[in-house]
Amino acid sequence: MTATRVLVLNSGSSSVKYQLLDMRDRSRLAVGLVERIGEQTSRLRHTCLASGDTREHTGPIADHDAALKAVAGELGRDGLGLDSPELAAIGHRVVHGGMFFTEPTVIDDEVLAEVERLIPVAPLHNPANLTGIRTARALRPDLPQVAVFDTAFHTTMPEQAARYAIDPKIADRHRIRRYGFHGTSHAYVSRETARLLGKDPAEVNVIVLHLGNGASASAVRRGRCVDTSMGLTPLEGLVMGTRSGDLDPAVIFHLARVGGMSMDEIDTLLNKRSGLFGLCGDNDMREIRRRIDEGDEEAALAFDIYIHRLKKYIGAYYAVLGTVDAVAFTAGVGENAAPVREAAIAGLEGLGLAVDPELNAVRADRARLVSPEGARVAVAVVPTDEELEIATQTYALVGKNN
Ligand code: ADP
Repeated sequence: MTATRVLVLNSGSSSVKYQLLDMRDRSRLAVGLVERIGEQTSRLRHTCLASGDTREHTGPIADHDAALKAVAGELGRDGLGLDSPELAAIGHRVVHGGMFFTEPTVIDDEVLAEVERLIPVAPLHNPANLTGIRTARALRPDLPQVAVFDTAFHTTMPEQAARYAIDPKIADRHRIRRYGFHGTSHAYVSRETARLLGKDPAEVNVIVLHLGNGASASAVRRGRCVDTSMGLTPLEGLVMGTRSGDLDPAVIFHLARVGGMSMDEIDTLLNKRSGLFGLCGDNDMREIRRRIDEGDEEAALAFDIYIHRLKKYIGAYYAVLGTVDAVAFTAGVGENAAPVREAAIAGLEGLGLAVDPELNAVRADRARLVSPEGARVAVAVVPTDEELEIATQTYALVGKNN
């Protein structure tokens, strides 16, 4: 029997998201989530797509090891267990691959050691990703496991985009440069946008706007990333749900020296209590739109600041690319919030960009154009699918090696 299934694992600090896919037709067999690992109120939610059954368990799940064993148990109950000969590989999302990992990589001890060495530049994410990998390897030591890095798609950026204007000796010593994140999504969406235009990715230039709770923009020239808005960490760039995005770095000195805040307090402020949430107390775009409709000025200003930053990046990446074939909106906000797309593109007719209000208002979960027919630059809504991309890359790599 040929093994055609791939389990995709996305291990966060207190959660594990997973999907089991069959790569013959790229269909989902099971999806699920374990949340609040390490607390008394952990929760596992598992759905088997074939039967349509969803099962939910609450109660303490002590650690990632217990979480993954519980997931394996649920998959087993549906006849999709980790011991199945049909399972070809496990694909792991790994947030930070530094400069070293430019492609998906079959995991061995050396790869694990390198991911560990990157912890100082990804203290929030890489430790959790590593725990997930170690646990999965212990469960199925014989099975190929592949790391798919959020940073990999961005490793094609030229030095002038990736380097900050600081002493290169200091930068190199501390591995400081623009790495960028959400790379799996930017890769998938830029390719799907080309497909939507009926072109090869190597023929088109695309600006991808990944607007979820975290948000980033990228400039993709002929299928290769040439610039992206997140930097050394996911803090830089666009206004996000709870992150500030760009600010004058001297704000940090000022908060420390004049505001008397500690580095940890500033870190928490900028990563967890800023962005839309910091500006108006809400980070969900639906709630912000509802408040705006009721005349809430605080929410309206937060929205305007969000849009202003987005426009600046569209303009910047237009200039970086020179010619642009499409601007693609993706992720929770980009796929669902028509007012965000409308406001971000408004006034950019001079750049050949416009949104057709009727097309933009259509709600759908397929890739589609929202620009007027015959527009010089297409505006697209392209649902992202990071799990499918991780599974595809994992399966391609394992297939190649077999
Ligand atoms: P992440 O993966 O970064 O957690 P998502 O890509 O799932 O985020 O996006 C989550 C965000 O999408 C929510 O915070 C919410 O603001 C936004 N969102 C989801 N659905 C809608 C909607 N129908 N209208 C507007 N915004 C939405």
